[in-house]
Formats: sequence, structure tokens, C-alpha cells
Amino acid sequence: MPYYHIDMQGNEIELPVTKVVCIGRNYLDHIQEMHSAVPEAPLLFMKPKAALCHMHDNIVIPTDKGECHNELEVSVLLKSPLKNASEDEAKAAIWGIGLGLDLTLRDVQAALKKQGQPWERAKSFDNSAPLSGFIPFHLVDNLDDLRFSLTINDDVRQKGHTELMLHKIIPLIAHMSSVFTLDCGDVILTGTPKGVGKLMPSDTVIASLENYLTVNTEVVAE
Ligand code: ZN
Repeated sequence: MPYYHIDMQGNEIELPVTKVVCIGRNYLDHIQEMHSAVPEAPLLFMKPKAALCHMHDNIVIPTDKGECHNELEVSVLLKSPLKNASEDEAKAAIWGIGLGLDLTLRDVQAALKKQGQPWERAKSFDNSAPLSGFIPFHLVDNLDDLRFSLTINDDVRQKGHTELMLHKIIPLIAHMSSVFTLDCGDVILTGTPKGVGKLMPSDTVIASLENYLTVNTEVVAE
């Protein structure tokens, strides 16, 4: 099914489907579990349009490329373009927030890291960004106080709190817009807390953004 942005009720949001801009290493506990270093500047990467899919449909993972890991992240949908934006301008461009999975082929990524190559083969494959519906921004109290969790087969695997981000959402979006223009319809994925791990076909998945939304879904083989 072709992807289009949806709200919490599943209604289409009339914004273009463009790209996903992501930050790596934005939570200290995840940096520690990966034995990575804290980057000097935000570590940015992108996923193309074909990466986007609806999280409530099955999560489709490749099974012939090593381990595919969950990374549950707060997502942000933009309703207007941003270039060299101030924090006020970044805030004014937000349509709403939700949850997204930054699916990652971890073995592929490890090989790319070793060779000093970019991460697209590990993170930018088709359906690598399953997204929830979006909650309109005016209903959101505080972007820096959002709690979210990922439960796999009844075990809580990830628990996040946006207060613990190294780069908070609004300054992060402003910064991204100083690197490249953000477009109307772009989705931002804001980094994963610890608890990344292997997904397997037939895993049951519950992604929850406390007080706002819950998505129940299942992993299937590509
Ligand atoms: Zn991520």
C-alpha cells in the first residue's frame, strides 16, 4: 500500500510524502550500549521516500542481510519548509508528532562502519521507516517531556524519555535546517534510547507514546 501521512484516527494528512531526516547517537544510554563515541556535531542521515510505511501494517524486514534491529524514536511531521531556521520558526513548522521505527540492519551497519562507508545500505532500505499516525502539535504539552516504549512479545525492550536527548527536538530541527533545506512533509526521527535488538518474523510489537498513542503490530519477513 502506498504511504501517505495519517493522523491518529487514520485520516490522511494532506502534506507531500518526501524524505526522513534522522539523528544517530542522541541518547547517552544508546551510545553506551553501542560502545560509540558522543559525536561533536549531530550525526545526521536520511531515509528516502520508499522507506516510509505505516507502522500499523506489518513491519516488513529483510531476512537475508543479518540482524534487523528495532530503534523506536519520536517522529515529527513538518508542514512548511525550513532553511537556516530559528527555534521559533522550527516550532511553527511542526504539524505534529508520533512514533517511528528506524529499522537498522545491524550487521550490515557494522561492516559499513568498519569500512568507513555511509549507512544507507543499513538504514535506508524500502520500508525501513514504519511510522505511526501523527498527533496535532497543539495537543502536545511539552516536547521535552515525552515518554515512549517498545514492547516485543510482552517484554518491554525500550523505554525513552525525550528529556534525556542530547539534542532536544526544536534545536535539532533548527540545526538540521542549517545543513540542508527541510521540506514541507518531511519527517524527522529524533534518535533512539537504549534497548535496540533483533526483530524476528512473527514478533508482536506494541509501540506506545505515553498519553498520546499506541500501535499494535507484527513483524513479517520480506
Ligand atoms: Zn535511529
